[in-house]
Amino acid sequence: MTLFRKVLPFVLLATFSFVPMSAQVARDLKIVFVDVEGGQATLFITPAGQSLLIDTGWPGNKGRDADRIVAAAKHEGIAKIDYVLLTHYHDDHVGGVPQLVSRIPVGTFIDHGPNREFDQGITEHGFAEYQKAISQGSFKRLTVHPGDVLPIQGMKVTVVSADGELLKRPLDDAGRPNEICKTTQQRPADQTENSRSLGVEITFGRLRVLDLGDLTWDKEVQLMCPTNRLGDVDIDIVSHHGWYQSSSPALVYAIHPRIAIMDNGEAKGGSPATFETYAHSASLETLWQLHYSTESGNKNSALAYIANLPGTDAGYSLELTAKSDGSFEVLNTRTHAVKHYAAATRTR
Ligand SMILES: [Zn+2]
Repeated sequence: MTLFRKVLPFVLLATFSFVPMSAQVARDLKIVFVDVEGGQATLFITPAGQSLLIDTGWPGNKGRDADRIVAAAKHEGIAKIDYVLLTHYHDDHVGGVPQLVSRIPVGTFIDHGPNREFDQGITEHGFAEYQKAISQGSFKRLTVHPGDVLPIQGMKVTVVSADGELLKRPLDDAGRPNEICKTTQQRPADQTENSRSLGVEITFGRLRVLDLGDLTWDKEVQLMCPTNRLGDVDIDIVSHHGWYQSSSPALVYAIHPRIAIMDNGEAKGGSPATFETYAHSASLETLWQLHYSTESGNKNSALAYIANLPGTDAGYSLELTAKSDGSFEVLNTRTHAVKHYAAATRTR
């Protein structure tokens, strides 16, 4: 036993000291929540070295959002974005496409199919600009449906909503009755592109991440009632920037999130009602925000968990690093502080 104790540390040291640093880092999944001032741009880099960007932020602003996305990619050592997933065709999601493709190579665009919001304005323009941009390059385009699994390597990305359609069968380890349906308000069907959002659930080892874009309350209730088709998630990317039109109790409480990340702007999203809902989540450890929400005052999270404070446009991001055992940590790039979350002990 004594000999074993003496020998074991040496053996461990000898084994691990020859693993190059890059190989150690490459075991992690990295997620960068780029601040695009109330739009969405979330960049995933898998241990296989592949990248997925969910949405491209706004148009205009001299390419501000595309520049922030490219800076985040370069910081992570990515020279090309393999997949750009567009949740829907509102300009805070699709608007940045032309500027993005002029700044960094993109492989494949993933979307829910044609635009169906005919507003004679911004949405049709955003879709047309996207079509124009992809027609001018050698991009692939993939239109996906609920139940599809994206071809990206290093994590499993399953489509749960697209073009108004929803996942028909529960995901693995999901499918329990959802008791919260009984007390969740029913709301009329949303007629905009929001309800057609391409939503995904991402599995990385034991870790689960949910991103439903701007999917609306009525679709959440259809997806989650009477059966919880999504199961539990660790990281909940708050739908629709935290606006009250999404985040029904039937969704938020049934998925038992450990943390939520809200991609709100200072005056966009971040509704008091949404903060109230998350405040009553028994499972939630932290609600992270990209911005302080002026409208929600003292309902905001503690400042340590907010990337950008009132009156600033510094574009601080939140950076999440996850291991396949389900543990992860979040870095606030404004404060440089890191919060660690141990792997969940619950069974799925
Ligand atoms: Zn939006």
